[in-house]
Amino acid sequence: MTTTLVRTERRDKVLVIIIDNPPVNAGSLAVRSGIAAAIDLLARDPALEGAVLIGAGSTFIAGSDLREFGKPLEAPELPQVIASIEDCATPVVAALHGAALGGGFELALGCDARVGSPGLVVGLPEVTLGMIPGAGGTQRLPRIVGLPTSIEWICAGTRVPAAQALEAGVLDALAEGALLDAAIEHLKSMRGRKRLLRNEPVPPSDDIAVASAEERALKAGKGRPQVREAIAAVKMAAAEPVDVALLKERAVFTRLRLADEAFALRHLFFAERNAPRRPELARAPVPDIGRIALIGAGLMGTGIAIAALDAGLEVTILEQSTDALTRGRMRIEDYYQSRVEGRKLDAPSAAKRLARLAMTSEWTALASAQFVIEAVFENLDVKQQVFRSIDRAAPAGAILATNTSYLDVDAIARATTRPQSVIGLHFFSPANLMKLVEVVRGSESSDVALSAGLALAKKLRKLPVLTGNAFGFVGNRIFAAYRRHCEYMLEDGATPQEVDAALESFGFAMGPFAVADMSGLDIAWRMRQATAFSRDPAARYCTIPDLLCEMARFGRKSGAGYYSHEGGGRGKPDAVTLEVIRKARESRGRVAQPMSVETIQLRAMAAIVNEAALVLEEGVTDRPEDIDVVLVNGYGFPRWEGGPIHWARRQPASKLELGMKLLQEAADGRLRRGNLGLLLEKP
Ligand code: NAD
Repeated sequence: MTTTLVRTERRDKVLVIIIDNPPVNAGSLAVRSGIAAAIDLLARDPALEGAVLIGAGSTFIAGSDLREFGKPLEAPELPQVIASIEDCATPVVAALHGAALGGGFELALGCDARVGSPGLVVGLPEVTLGMIPGAGGTQRLPRIVGLPTSIEWICAGTRVPAAQALEAGVLDALAEGALLDAAIEHLKSMRGRKRLLRNEPVPPSDDIAVASAEERALKAGKGRPQVREAIAAVKMAAAEPVDVALLKERAVFTRLRLADEAFALRHLFFAERNAPRRPELARAPVPDIGRIALIGAGLMGTGIAIAALDAGLEVTILEQSTDALTRGRMRIEDYYQSRVEGRKLDAPSAAKRLARLAMTSEWTALASAQFVIEAVFENLDVKQQVFRSIDRAAPAGAILATNTSYLDVDAIARATTRPQSVIGLHFFSPANLMKLVEVVRGSESSDVALSAGLALAKKLRKLPVLTGNAFGFVGNRIFAAYRRHCEYMLEDGATPQEVDAALESFGFAMGPFAVADMSGLDIAWRMRQATAFSRDPAARYCTIPDLLCEMARFGRKSGAGYYSHEGGGRGKPDAVTLEVIRKARESRGRVAQPMSVETIQLRAMAAIVNEAALVLEEGVTDRPEDIDVVLVNGYGFPRWEGGPIHWARRQPASKLELGMKLLQEAADGRLRRGNLGLLLEKP
């Protein structure tokens, strides 16, 4: 039998069903129909003893075709295909390699046994996409691993490696040699017996373990509806007859897949997948980078070093003094020690990583450097000085990157004799955890250098986004506009805690003033001082953050900023700050007005959306979706809203217009208004 995407072969008395839908065998209508037809063939041929379901190429079914989820699903739907496997009199074994995720894993759970290859990962990522598994995943998995583990894996979308899946009983066997042969052998050992998970009992688990798994999942999943629904569905496995529970699970899946949140998360899924893909760079070679040199062992240098060591690279860090080198090394060693103590990493693995780290203060150490990343103080003179030294020390062909937050990459590149090799690589703090990296194209950056920047970011398991060389690139530029308008709100009558609470209730991980206190008010202060000459003297300027800095209120690190940080934690409202705000307001002749939560949210969102339009207009990025990727992955914008562009596209025109009007008023009529049409057009 042959359909375009599924074919069958006979091996003796076994039907081998091969799914062949490159590149990742995504489950789709054609794949489902093909499998259903093959199972029909099996059911009608008494000479066959059973079937093995296997993926062609490098993987089993790595997930379902997400584009189908936004539309009506066509029959046969996955539950029907799984039911036909279960109803078939002879057993079906799933032979799994690569990834068996989402619908692919549910299909495997509907088979009578599962044999896996050592490199396999299995998992149910639906919750991370705003849904719950809808083809029995929440009912069949608990019958193997119990309720607490199912809650944990399903709510987090955990990817479970083969060895762990075998230990948990999800795999019946691990194939040491050829996967297909092992699966056929396993099928023969079943002697024609069926073994349906749906008929198995859920192993008992104590209520406390279930409650604590539930609590952890809700906390990590920020209480989103799909997390609550997934927990309820898993618990049904132990409480309801399986057929009733399967129907209920499907009904929840069907409702959630068409809800706003699932559309937003699917939008981000595609935007994030697309961000590193740059067809215009396709002809540049993609180097395999095995080692990097870092200049500066401060906060960012050591964070990037950890990311590189974790990814298996050799790392050399250059610092200006022995003291700074010692502090940098201690920071990295302390990090690995805490990982070992917290049982996140075993001691030999930590030692291996540290063995790949070299620290030096000799520029000659750069003689064989492949890729150099500078992370010294945010000061143009210092950075130019450093790039002159790099230029002298690094071999021809090396890629030179700066981690600057705001400075002009071209001005830095001009300090070298090879500006074509210079790019920006803007990591976020903490650099070992944050996935986002802005890869900045200077006016002379070559495609080879940019392609290498993207390749390095991917190697470090980061999410690279290509941006133009403009003040603050994409992220800091938009964030600066947002923060400025939030500061105006203080002068206009809101308190820091009101603004923070309103934006946190919108979904931001932290409000802007809590963020400022955490990262330090002095950074933006220095930046404002350095750029004061370029400011329009007639533009509205809020002095509150400057006044706080002049009082040495830099945030958490100095014990006070917008909030008081005596006693730790995220800080308490502080009368001193409120007095600073009152005086600043008075001196500017502004009158405090009560501000509703909705107004705060709309003004903040309008500031972000307007600046995003300007960023597009100026060509700092050519992709609106990349702005969503940046704000969600670097600035705590709520993932479930899909990013500010996706949010804006879903708002009524009248609401956006009101937002722009409020923004214009807040800017005392001097708003540089972006063309929202650029971002509202859907591709
Ligand atoms: P930091 O002050 O923690 O570290 C800077 C390090 O550079 C210090 O250890 C210093 O000794 C070293 N250094 C200075 N001059 C040097 C020289 N000539 N040769 C060798 N080493 C030298 O600063 P940081 O927070 O790590 O920031 C570094 C860069 O990263 C800046 O450009 C900053 O704007 C950028 N950045 C910072 C963050 C953040 O959140 N801190 C985020 C993104 C980007």
